[in-house]
Amino acid sequence: MTIATPETNPAESDRIARCSCGALSLRLSGEPRRVYGCACIECQRATGTAFAYRAIYAEEAVREVVGEVRSWRRISDAGRWIDQHFCPGCGTLVYMSAEALTGALSVSMGCFVERDIPPPVAIHNLHRAPSWLDLEAFAPTA
Ligand SMILES: [Zn+2]
Ligand SMILES: [Zn+2]
Repeated sequence: MTIATPETNPAESDRIARCSCGALSLRLSGEPRRVYGCACIECQRATGTAFAYRAIYAEEAVREVVGEVRSWRRISDAGRWIDQHFCPGCGTLVYMSAEALTGALSVSMGCFVERDIPPPVAIHNLHRAPSWLDLEAFAPTA
C-alpha cells in the first residue's frame, strides 16, 4: 500500500489505531466502509481471541503511519495472499491488507484510541467460533 504523507491539520473525525506499546499508529479519516468480525481459525490465531473485529478503510483514508511496521504474509483458504502488519516491538496486529481487498485495508478495531466505534454488521465464519460464544444477534454472512 502507499503510505500517505502526514497532514498538519488532523480532522476531528480522524481516528487513531495504535499498537499496545504505542510505537506504531495509523491515523484514519472518515468512517470505515464496513465493520465486521471473523471467527475463522486464522483470525482466532492471529488475534489470540475468539474472533477478529475489524474495520475496512479505503487506502486514501490513511492520513499517517507513524512507527515501524513489520509484515507477515499468509495464504487464505482461497489461495490468495493476506498481509498482516504488526508492530515489531510489541507484536500487535494493527492492520491487514489482502489480495481480495483492492485499494483498502482492514484495521483491528481493538486498536482504536477512540471508543465511539461502530459494531460489526456481520461476523464471518461463526461456525468456527467457540461453542460458548453466543453471537446470535449477528447474522453470519459467510
Ligand atoms: Zn507496539
Ligand atoms: Zn478470519
